[in-house]
Amino acid sequence: MQEGSQKDQCRKDQPSAGHRPEAQQGLAFSAEVEAQLEAARQWCVARGERLTPTRAQVLGLILSDPRPSGAYELLSRLRESHPRAAPPTVYRALEFLLGLGLIHRIERLSAFTACLHVLECHDSSCCPAGSEAGRAVSEEAGTTVPKWACHRAYFLICRLCGHVRELEEALVSRLLLQTASGLGFRAESATVEIVGVCAECAGK
Ligand SMILES: [Zn+2]
Ligand SMILES: [Zn+2]
Repeated sequence: MQEGSQKDQCRKDQPSAGHRPEAQQGLAFSAEVEAQLEAARQWCVARGERLTPTRAQVLGLILSDPRPSGAYELLSRLRESHPRAAPPTVYRALEFLLGLGLIHRIERLSAFTACLHVLECHDSSCCPAGSEAGRAVSEEAGTTVPKWACHRAYFLICRLCGHVRELEEALVSRLLLQTASGLGFRAESATVEIVGVCAECAGK
């Protein structure tokens, strides 16, 4: 009798397990974060990369927190679902996500924040690597639309609540990169971290 009920249980589990193989055995995220993870998964597939379950877990943790997450904080949260996760597990996942531009590193805080902008950007002069069209344009145009222009990020960091907001202002980016190239400097990455008090904290 016990055998029979176990089989029934298996059959019941099959549809959901088959539907979302990547989401198995992981931490539960909000519907909003799951939707963002799904977008990131497709974004990776379009670039011949794979958002493995571990990479998705790390990205999900970063997406779930409005404050930037440190590597060790991520490791201890990851251990809730992967008890044997070691620092290299997290560092490899972070390296992958950084390489694809899905997250940024906030130098001042030694912490990581998600980049949602890159998933939605179709402006090839802003994110040349962000879209198929953008990549073609940057390859064709050579130095006019540099590929490395996407490796830049500008942040507003609230020193009271710790929340970080990314600026998606392409104008700021163009101005800085034009100024640099006017001096004969070939910029490869740019991070601007503006510290202050956010609107919410200022209103308290
Ligand atoms: Zn970004
Ligand atoms: Zn604040």
